[in-house]
Amino acid sequence: MTMIADNLQAVRRRVSAACIAAGRAPHTVQVLAVSKTFASDVVDQAIGAGQSMFGENYIQEAVQKILLLRARTVQWHCIGPIQSNKTRLVAEHFDWVQSLDRLKTAQRLSEQRPAHLAPLQVCLQVNTDGGPTKAGVSPEHLAQLAQDVALLPRLVLRGLMTIPEPTTDFQSAVALHARAKALFDGLNASGFALDTLSMGMSADLEAAIHAGSTMLRIGSAIFGGRTPQGPPQ
Ligand SMILES: *Cc1c(COP(=O)(O)O)cnc(C)c1O
Repeated sequence: MTMIADNLQAVRRRVSAACIAAGRAPHTVQVLAVSKTFASDVVDQAIGAGQSMFGENYIQEAVQKILLLRARTVQWHCIGPIQSNKTRLVAEHFDWVQSLDRLKTAQRLSEQRPAHLAPLQVCLQVNTDGGPTKAGVSPEHLAQLAQDVALLPRLVLRGLMTIPEPTTDFQSAVALHARAKALFDGLNASGFALDTLSMGMSADLEAAIHAGSTMLRIGSAIFGGRTPQGPPQ
């Protein structure tokens, strides 16, 4: 087995153990492999090991990989910031966008989504920590944005994505993730039918599963360490 196949197996074991500890069925939690900064041949190894969903942060880097791997049947998720001049690339090449946090971007993506492709599946990124500089819509503006996005013809609103502040102890990590879970449940109680709560990374996947995550975004635990900055856009 390759190192990546080993790592994927170890992640799947962690996911199963955390699901069982939380009283959840392991199949209720998906793993998105975050392949930013890793080359297409590395992604190809992960595909060979059975991984079929990939997340990318840097649009141009991602599009190169998507084109190189277009013969493979995999799903590509955009999880990084989207400048206005990149919306067309995103609309034309990705299956999902999880980092949506403003209506303007959503409108452009809907307008630019090619007719021959399925609608773009989207999650709203929500900022539950309240930090003013972090990406994500604030909890108080979330419901309005969800209503507006749900009306766009070429987008399908699937859920929420969140990146809570890192914490070291399990209970406070669970408490932070639980804020996003409460917002997710609140939207569904008000009539949405969201099925995706994207939260949890390599370091905090157990806490995220405990709080109700349905999709983990795992980078370093699958691919190894990255250089701190990643390539320029
Ligand atoms: C890089 C990244 C991840 C993966 O982080 P790891 O700690 O390497 O698992 C998940 N989500 C987002 C938004 C990221 O940018």
